Amino acid sequence: MPITTEDTLRWLKQLANVLHENRDYLTQLDSPVGDADHGTNMDRGFKAVADKLPGMENMDIGSILKTVGTTLVSTVGGASGPLYGTAFLRAGMATSGKHELYETDIVSMLEAALEGIKVRGKAQLGEKTMVDALTPALAAAKEAEAQNSGLSQLLRRTSNAAEGGMKSTIPMLATKGRASYLGERSIGHQDPGATSSWLILKTLADTCG
Ligand code: ADP
Ligand code: MG
Repeated sequence: MPITTEDTLRWLKQLANVLHENRDYLTQLDSPVGDADHGTNMDRGFKAVADKLPGMENMDIGSILKTVGTTLVSTVGGASGPLYGTAFLRAGMATSGKHELYETDIVSMLEAALEGIKVRGKAQLGEKTMVDALTPALAAAKEAEAQNSGLSQLLRRTSNAAEGGMKSTIPMLATKGRASYLGERSIGHQDPGATSSWLILKTLADTCG
């Protein structure tokens, strides 16, 4: 069973709830390595997205994701606003005109989103950012697709790989974003953006898998 427009809207609605529930957690993670606003940034952005969902029932999935992107750009601010905004815009371009997403579409969508973040933020793997959650997530999605594991398994494996990538940021030295100002003192802390990236993909698996 593919992911439909209805599933996409359920994912985004639940994601707004999950980010609201995790607002304090994400902000706590952003305290030692940043400016303690990642939770409020994400909560504000996805609350604005949730407010727009009722008008999106007849849209194709690409248009929905592009609307999410523009909404995040205009409401989130900080580093994560333009980065996630670009990610959703690119994901929307990769799924333009589609009303159903199959395994191959999920891979294209993730690939486009990650590429957008890397171009915009100029971060590579191992710099303690959301890229460290999304890179293994994309690799897991590709592997699951190649093994014909089915959509549910693909989404779960993608989410699990993002969780592993998120945890891998703990021992990393930050060289991008605010955390990089701390130098060696950034070591030992989990990256807030890698954590929100995992929550986005976990909620996708939980709602559409
Ligand atoms: P800000 O750092 O402006 O306060 P947020 O706190 O909302 O913005 O987001 C911080 C997160 O953004 C970091 O945890 C990291 O994952 C991500 N980030 C910051 N700079 C970059 C970058 N250049 N490339 C990729 N991700 C980045
Ligand atoms: Mg911050």
